[in-house]
Amino acid sequence: MFEDPYTEHVLLTPGPTPIHPRAQQALMRPMLGHMDPEIFALNTEIQADLRAMYGTTDTTFTALLAGTGSLGMEAGFANLVESGDEVLVCANGSFGRRMADMATRYGANVRLVTAPLGEAIDPDDVAAQMNGVQMVAVVHGETSTGVLNPVPQIAQIARQHGALLTVDAVTTAGMEPFHMAEWGVDYAYTGAQKCLSAPPGLAPVAISDRALARYHARRTPTPLWYCDFEGLRDYWERHTYHHTVPVNLHYALHAALRAALDEGMLNRKARVQHVGQAIQTALAPLGFTPYVQRPEDRLPTVLALRLPDGFDDAGVRRALRERHISVTGGLGATAGLIWRLGLMGETARPAPYRALMNALEDLLGVQGLTARFDAALEPVPV
Ligand SMILES: *Cc1c(COP(=O)(O)O)cnc(C)c1O
Repeated sequence: MFEDPYTEHVLLTPGPTPIHPRAQQALMRPMLGHMDPEIFALNTEIQADLRAMYGTTDTTFTALLAGTGSLGMEAGFANLVESGDEVLVCANGSFGRRMADMATRYGANVRLVTAPLGEAIDPDDVAAQMNGVQMVAVVHGETSTGVLNPVPQIAQIARQHGALLTVDAVTTAGMEPFHMAEWGVDYAYTGAQKCLSAPPGLAPVAISDRALARYHARRTPTPLWYCDFEGLRDYWERHTYHHTVPVNLHYALHAALRAALDEGMLNRKARVQHVGQAIQTALAPLGFTPYVQRPEDRLPTVLALRLPDGFDDAGVRRALRERHISVTGGLGATAGLIWRLGLMGETARPAPYRALMNALEDLLGVQGLTARFDAALEPVPV
């Protein structure tokens, strides 16, 4: 009998998330060729389910890119930006800055709209810089700070100015309703290992007709051959060979995406809120406070908590890791200052956070954490 040498691990990180049991099972399916009719049928189901997840029109082109979320980000700029284009990038965290870096590499003149650390982008700041802009890019939920940016308002501004809108939906789509068509988003992407709890290595994307029209108006071919929009359509729509897709990852993503749609986005959003408030209720008496000041700026799927004064961030997280519990700290300016607790996909469940509460009671020599957590999870009495 094969014995698994790895210990069960509690992942509380803001990605990757634990693999959904149905996705884990799908990984056991035998290998098939990427040109097999069964795989094309599976891909067609994935495309329809992605339309539902992103809230697109019935005919919007959706696909999986064979890479992580960053490939989804890069494919958007590679196909939709040409040398000399004016691109406005909302950059209030490290993923926004990654967008700006990529847009620059594909030849864009990048205008940055920033916000103080821990605050959302102000749509008025976007509107003030729109003159001559061909594309706006924004991260919906900034994982590096736990901030939610106002995508519907920014979308309205982009529409008014006839600019395309690219949205990083990595921490939102698949965990709460996303309305690509209604808001007016032209290109959206995520990564399989975040809200969907599928294995890393796939980037689900949705491309509006407006974005495809911009692609067809290019003066020069897309410099990234691997993710060329028409190359993707060769495989996903015309069923001709482009590159060998990772079919095992397609199996797993198909299962995880179906599980997410079966549960429903409103139920998933409620689950995130439910577990998130229980964590805050349990930790508040220890001195943990929300890092993002304005409640409407808080990203539900990445709970950023300011650590109590004198808290031994590195020491406690090291001790947690020895107990097979992974917690993520701050990044750059917020290192040592905050924890970023993931509430995406299978992480947004009581059991993994109960494990954290138990371990913290022990490590910090405090009592009542788990009891407070469990009490806060109880349905509110009527
Ligand atoms: C994780 C993440 C990405 C991309 O991640 P990969 O590590 O390439 O999968 C992009 N944007 C946001 C907001 C993320 O959280």
